[in-house]
Amino acid sequence: SLVPSLLRAEAVVDLAAVRHNVATLRARLTSAELMTVVKADAYGHGMVPVARAARQAGADWIGAAVLEEALQLRAAGDNGPIFCWLTTPGEPLAQAIANDIDLSAGAPWEIDEIAAGVTERPARVHLKIDTGMSRGGAVPEEWPALIKAALEEQKSGRVVITGIWSHLASADEPKSPANEAQLETFTAAVDVAESFGIDPGFKHLANSAATLALPETHFDLVRPGIATYGLSPFGHALPSAELGLRPAMTLKARLAMVKRVPAGAGVSYGLTWTAPRPSTLGLIPIGYGDGLPRHASNGGPVQARGHRRTVVGRICMDQCVVNLEDDEAAAGDEVVLFGPGTGGEPTADDWADAAGTINYEIVTRLGPRIPRRYV
Ligand code: PLP
Repeated sequence: SLVPSLLRAEAVVDLAAVRHNVATLRARLTSAELMTVVKADAYGHGMVPVARAARQAGADWIGAAVLEEALQLRAAGDNGPIFCWLTTPGEPLAQAIANDIDLSAGAPWEIDEIAAGVTERPARVHLKIDTGMSRGGAVPEEWPALIKAALEEQKSGRVVITGIWSHLASADEPKSPANEAQLETFTAAVDVAESFGIDPGFKHLANSAATLALPETHFDLVRPGIATYGLSPFGHALPSAELGLRPAMTLKARLAMVKRVPAGAGVSYGLTWTAPRPSTLGLIPIGYGDGLPRHASNGGPVQARGHRRTVVGRICMDQCVVNLEDDEAAAGDEVVLFGPGTGGEPTADDWADAAGTINYEIVTRLGPRIPRRYV
């Protein structure tokens, strides 16, 4: 990196925490294998370093959403099983197949498209079942056609059915009856596949929340994403520390300027905040252009010199203002926007609350202008 240490801002990514979280998730499994989900640049943490750390800690599989991610992992030298579940007509499936990437198909035409991309080795395919989330995959009426298409291509030698899978809509609410309904539908799909005389291979359904709270959904393989990064899929309802997880990312910045303003001074676009009394303000050189959510204007929490302070006024593209009240402060001071919370700093969940979103979005949105530093 051209940025050897914190100058403007940085996201410190604790790969020991990632390894700890992967090992913690693995310890929850009885016989299932573990797929670490590293899509979207590993939820903002950096895909290749996270995938490497996850493999070191025992991840059997790596999960990617889109083909670019899967191919980038192979190009970076990852030779283990990789599952990629979201392809779009016309994408270079032949390249994925030649790179031994497990693909997903939820319709006969997807099987056909995959089969058409086969040159030497057969394509490894997981059958995608829509168990109620309506986000892709075959609904019950479509199961026989999907299974028959896959079976035909398996007989022709172009396809090997390596899995059958689905995704839970409400695993973050473990008591929701939707989970049981989806589980039942999934089991029914597996039964139908087996009734056609095929071994569907890896059966998988569980994201982080289900891995942590619904062991009956583990089957042969689980696919946690967010928990890998030490964040709780349950938000404040069940904090990550109670789950034995360690948040991996800390977002820091250095104040670009500090100034004292009189009572009545307005701050940032629209002057949505006015100093109620003489105040010390710090200029944080990060904004929504770096992925900070503008919805956290007038509320984003910051730790400065050990105190919990608040972003005042609107978050701009490149900068925002923190109210340091009467604190001693100087330009160049380091401030922490979020981290594990163990040193009193805000967490990604605190930022999620301030922005009306979920911790996933806080870390994932951090853009390329923030250097990642791995420790
Ligand atoms: N599996 C699939 C298909 C997903 O789309 C995702 C992410 O949304 C995951 C697993 C991981 O989910 P989570 O980050 O909630 O563990």
